[in-house]
Amino acid sequence: MISFQKASKLGIASEDVNLKENSDKQKKFLIRNDCSQETIDDIRRHYGNVVFSEPLNADEFDRSIQKIYKNKSIIDDEEMISLGDTISLEDATQSLLSKTSIENNSDDAPIIQMLNSIISQSLAKGASDIHFEPNEESFDIKMRLDGNIINVLSLRSEIASRLISRIKILGQINISERRLPQDGRVTFKLGKQIIDVRISTLPTGSGERVVMRILGKQNQLIKLDKLQMPEIIYKNFQSQVRKPHGLILVTGPTGSGKTTTLYSAIDSISNLGLNIMTIEDPIEISFPGISQTQVNVKLGLDFAEGLKAILRQDPDVIMVGEIRDPETASVALRASITGHLVLSTLHTNTTYGAISRLRDLGVDPYMISSSLNSVIAQRLLRKYCLNCRDESINLGGNSSDQLFKLKGCEQCDYSGLQGRIAIFDYLNINSELKNKISDGDLLSKEDNIHEKSNLSTEANSLVKNNVIPKFEAVRMTMNDNE
Ligand SMILES: [Zn+2]
Repeated sequence: MISFQKASKLGIASEDVNLKENSDKQKKFLIRNDCSQETIDDIRRHYGNVVFSEPLNADEFDRSIQKIYKNKSIIDDEEMISLGDTISLEDATQSLLSKTSIENNSDDAPIIQMLNSIISQSLAKGASDIHFEPNEESFDIKMRLDGNIINVLSLRSEIASRLISRIKILGQINISERRLPQDGRVTFKLGKQIIDVRISTLPTGSGERVVMRILGKQNQLIKLDKLQMPEIIYKNFQSQVRKPHGLILVTGPTGSGKTTTLYSAIDSISNLGLNIMTIEDPIEISFPGISQTQVNVKLGLDFAEGLKAILRQDPDVIMVGEIRDPETASVALRASITGHLVLSTLHTNTTYGAISRLRDLGVDPYMISSSLNSVIAQRLLRKYCLNCRDESINLGGNSSDQLFKLKGCEQCDYSGLQGRIAIFDYLNINSELKNKISDGDLLSKEDNIHEKSNLSTEANSLVKNNVIPKFEAVRMTMNDNE
């Protein structure tokens, strides 16, 4: 059996990598056009009467061996990689770093095992991303958990290229291209769970960096009534998403859970017999019965193009992943005043900031006033780990000590934090606010539905109730005076 490393180095691969050496079946070999005569002679000596392909060019060869090796680790569905029973990360590391494995770097098994263990562990912990970062001295593997980067392990730097090649095989990414950023996708199966993962590579001075974005698992659908919105916001939002037309926006920084809120809204109306269509980047959760389209900039399918195509498909409700350019803004707002309900996100921190952001994108104030129904601003805050939270800090007590004193335990990876909680602000665009907007006025936080409560007061009350540390509240409100 030829390992993947060896196959790509020598330019030769057996079409059936798992065929026993003494099998009666005649072996077929693919060869790359630079495969040496010596290698071919070696194979003949070793396997006897074998068949060779026409010499393939490097691209053709890479594509073929990716197909062959992708499925090498236990597979039960054509397109799905089963993670099966993985061993612990410690065992995988030990076996990978054992003397025999380092010396015999043509054996793929320890690499496959290592990667499967890393992925299984990250999924078990509920990570949203896994980072593979080659550096001069080491190869660092990290994950993002509840918004934080956590070190998983640090390996010797010579492991990097082997592990990254394996990831690229899975993602069907061109393995010989190391100078350009690339992206791919893979679906894993873990028990009954199906997990989509988006893979992206980026060349750096010390090798290719890879990030695996885990989709559709930790972002699992949350029912609208489980988002823990304050009652007044929940009721208003719920009635807004049932309106036949208009624009609903969710704002907040990256990682504040905007998409989760939109998905919950869509889920709440998914059985009303409506034609719901989305254009997203990426599609984070697949909905049965809803038509979802992935942005593909390479092919010229951006948000604006996707949205225009959706409008020709007789939709009732449209979700646009993000409004970030003038054309998408203009098409989305026009759609929302011509009989469609449009839901989207805007990259701004506050509710009222949505008005100035839309104006920055060239939208006419009158257009905003006639389309916009409501704006939600939200944040996700990290909570104390309930297992090791310092209960001595009593309600309303002096919280300055909380700043850097987090105990940490095994359950929270010694971070002292576990899980997140969402807080919301809400702007209900009533006729009074519509007039203000069309007059060209900007809105302020006094226009929010909850005059006495806003993101800061919500965050502070969570601090008082010992749910989140003070630094979370401070971090959250830092950029709120835009
Ligand atoms: Zn803890």
